[in-house]
Amino acid sequence: MDKEKMLSNPKETIRIIQENNFTFRKNYGQNFLIDSHVIDKIIDAAEIDKDTEVLEIGPGIGTLTQYLAESAKSVTAVEIDDKLIPILDKTLADYDNVTVIHGDIMKQDIGAIFEGRPFKIVANLPYYITTPIIMSLLEARVPAESITVMIQKEVAERMQAAPGTKDYGALSLAVQFYAEPYLAANVPQNCFMPRPNVGSAVIRLRRLAEPPVSVKDEKLMFKLIRAAFNQRRKTLANAVKNFEGLSFSREEVENALTKIGLDVRIRGEALSLKQFADLTNELC
Ligand code: SAM
Repeated sequence: MDKEKMLSNPKETIRIIQENNFTFRKNYGQNFLIDSHVIDKIIDAAEIDKDTEVLEIGPGIGTLTQYLAESAKSVTAVEIDDKLIPILDKTLADYDNVTVIHGDIMKQDIGAIFEGRPFKIVANLPYYITTPIIMSLLEARVPAESITVMIQKEVAERMQAAPGTKDYGALSLAVQFYAEPYLAANVPQNCFMPRPNVGSAVIRLRRLAEPPVSVKDEKLMFKLIRAAFNQRRKTLANAVKNFEGLSFSREEVENALTKIGLDVRIRGEALSLKQFADLTNELC
């Protein structure tokens, strides 16, 4: 399609919105992309080629979808807003490799859509639900090769943070247990219509074939992690002692820490994923 006619041209986005009397719904996190360079960066980071099958979450009026359709083998796009479905019919009419599903991404059986074929997830995610969407895809071990998404900059930084940094927390550990994060680009507010209140970033999460650490009880490890970051200023042993659903005494945690070679007064924010796994295995 002629670039001028694509929806990344702000004039085209305005035309489509006006022609269809579309009003943005804040509760669905609708901030549409209006910058072709940013879209190129998303496609590059996602490593899309003519053999790639893509799942897009929230196509909006189809801006990113048009570019995906031109670079990928096929695109399946899941959109929750019924007002956008007839608009997508028009804006994607030129592409015979796009399927739009009207529904909530949190309720889709994604494995069934691809029936075992490899696929990648790409999205400019609605910010109100970014973390639940990403965590449910990772925890359900949805077999996507990678998830490349535009999200709040601050959340992207937390996902790829290392131990001892201010951004490091339960989200960093949870994401890094399942995937290898790569922050591909920072994106300013003026690349969207309407402008969001926060800065954005493109992050790619490459799914790991196996978790990077070996842990006997994943549930227990993530509970210990939540306990550690729930009370960041406390020592790990004290934070765990009072945490709901855990029944370890301070002494038990301190003994386990000593056994894995750590100081008993260490705080959770200093532990790597490997050290959380070792501590879990020791407490098991
Ligand atoms: N992809 C478009 C773009 O980049 O211009 C729109 C991105 S906009 C940030 C997020 C889109 O996700 C909106 O179209 C919104 O209606 C849709 N959405 C919000 N919640 C959703 C959900 N639970 N399932 C599927 N789509 C959802």
